[in-house]
Amino acid sequence: MSIKKLSTDELLGINKFFVDEDNPHIVIDKDKCSDCKEKACLYVCPAGLYTIKNDNITFDYAGCLECGTCRTVCTAEGITKWAYPKGTFGVEFRYG
Ligand code: SF4
Repeated sequence: MSIKKLSTDELLGINKFFVDEDNPHIVIDKDKCSDCKEKACLYVCPAGLYTIKNDNITFDYAGCLECGTCRTVCTAEGITKWAYPKGTFGVEFRYG
C-alpha cells in the first residue's frame, strides 16, 4: 500500500468552508496595514489569505482555518475584528 503525498493546496482543498457572506469574522484596517513595516501576516497565514498587490494588503477571510496566528503576530493593530465564525459557519476540517 502506498500513500500519495499531497501538496499544501491539495490538503487545503480537502477542507470545506461555510462562508458567512454577511458577517466577516476577520476585518482588517487597510490604512494601518499599509503603514505596517513587518507585514508578518503575509508570511504566517497557513492558508495564504494575506497577499500584497501594489503595496496594499489584500485579504479574503473565506478560506480561513481559524488558527488565530494573524491576530497573534499583528503588531500594527491592523486587525480590527477577529472572532470565530458564528454557528454553522467556518471551516470543516476533513482528513483524507
Ligand atoms: Fe490565516 Fe489563521 Fe489568520 Fe485565518 S486565523 S486568516 S488561517 S492566520
